[in-house]
Amino acid sequence: MSRTVIRNGTIVDPSQGLHGRMDMALRNGVVEDIAPEVRPESGDKVFDVQGLYIAPGFIDLHTHLREPGGESAETIESGCRAAAAGGFTTIYCMPNTRPVCDTETGVHYVVSRAARAGCVRVIPVAAVTKGQQGEEITNMGRLQRAGAGAFSDDGYPVMNAEIMRRALEYTSMIGVPVMEHCEDANLSGSGAVHEGAVSLKLGLRGIPRVSESTMVSRNVALAAATGGHIHICHVSARESVEAIREAKRNGVHVTAEVTPHHLTMTDKDVLGYNVNAKMKPPLCEEEDREALIAALEDGTIDCIATDHAPHSANAKDNVFDEAPFGIIGMESAFPLLFTEFVLPGRWPLEFLVEKLTVAPAAVVNRPWGTLQPGSPADMAILQLGQPYTFERRHLHSRSSNCPWLGRTMKGRVAMTLVGGLPVYESPDLYGKPQPVEKPGRKSTSTKTPKRKTGKSNKATTR
Ligand SMILES: [Zn+2]
Repeated sequence: MSRTVIRNGTIVDPSQGLHGRMDMALRNGVVEDIAPEVRPESGDKVFDVQGLYIAPGFIDLHTHLREPGGESAETIESGCRAAAAGGFTTIYCMPNTRPVCDTETGVHYVVSRAARAGCVRVIPVAAVTKGQQGEEITNMGRLQRAGAGAFSDDGYPVMNAEIMRRALEYTSMIGVPVMEHCEDANLSGSGAVHEGAVSLKLGLRGIPRVSESTMVSRNVALAAATGGHIHICHVSARESVEAIREAKRNGVHVTAEVTPHHLTMTDKDVLGYNVNAKMKPPLCEEEDREALIAALEDGTIDCIATDHAPHSANAKDNVFDEAPFGIIGMESAFPLLFTEFVLPGRWPLEFLVEKLTVAPAAVVNRPWGTLQPGSPADMAILQLGQPYTFERRHLHSRSSNCPWLGRTMKGRVAMTLVGGLPVYESPDLYGKPQPVEKPGRKSTSTKTPKRKTGKSNKATTR
């Protein structure tokens, strides 16, 4: 099969310690070679991406695709398009659909719908308990064989410690994590926001920090007792960070993720009853935000995950107390974090790329998030530095519950490739990757590679 050569990109691949201008050759959907110069041969397809950056495709361990049952907010297809537009090539999707993904049929449904969408790789997360009712554990072995990559009752905590203990025992035998939404349902009650000065001022019921941190402490204790792997979803409070840090010091198999919104927003963003600042766990205070950033930097928190949570405008345009929790996040994650952390010099670009690629891959113990020769040619091609206004048209989700619309961003995903095939191209890219008709000679044509269609695509879920 013919070879594709991508020339003059700046490759940023933390898994190989690469950051520099290199050429790359792809064949049969796999990275064949990365070298300072790859000479095109006759028959090669050649693209010049001068001025653009190439990263391994991003991996999101925490998304909600809403199908089946919530198709007005998102479908597996629209969620995949949103992922591709954000540079994500592999996403895990949570089981809190209607019905809940707690059977082999449910897992097969997600896998087959994702294959039909023919876009990014989708790994279903199956429920810990039947119907996410917290009472009866699912058949984890069967669900894993059907394709589930992890277990979670996300949206809700597993309140019963005995069930969590058994879930950690089972999953330790099959080598996958329990991804836990840590929240004490009794402490949270009907709270809508973080309990503090802002909740008092707005007269809203608060959720205390200990609602999360006591469950984090309980869950790491159960992981220590069972040898199971607990992955703490969307860490929000500084006490939770401390509990994870301590557990890691003691050798507990605990990993953790943080969302772009908890890294960039606080409960002050709720002022004015902003429904796009209403999420679970709630946005805490500036000190918590700083603790989360420090924890990501020192490795206490392993990776970034979006908790992409689409809600239709109907549902979200509501009085604050009635509005659902959560915001979408896949399209905005990279532009936002690049603009907020890399551009001002707090993080090197490779740090952000690592936390979106090889770091989440390590959480689930998979050899992904790398452009090492032999790896699938999953990549995000990035344009950095040009300012633009982030708008509705940049969203591919069916929902637009995004707090960053109207914000000036200075990084964008120019193109996303899965298995070497383009699944997303930015429509307004300045200096588009140029196909070169004859090896070595620049073409004047502005044709871009054919967009992948559902039928021809070979992307499969892993
Ligand atoms: Zn959650």
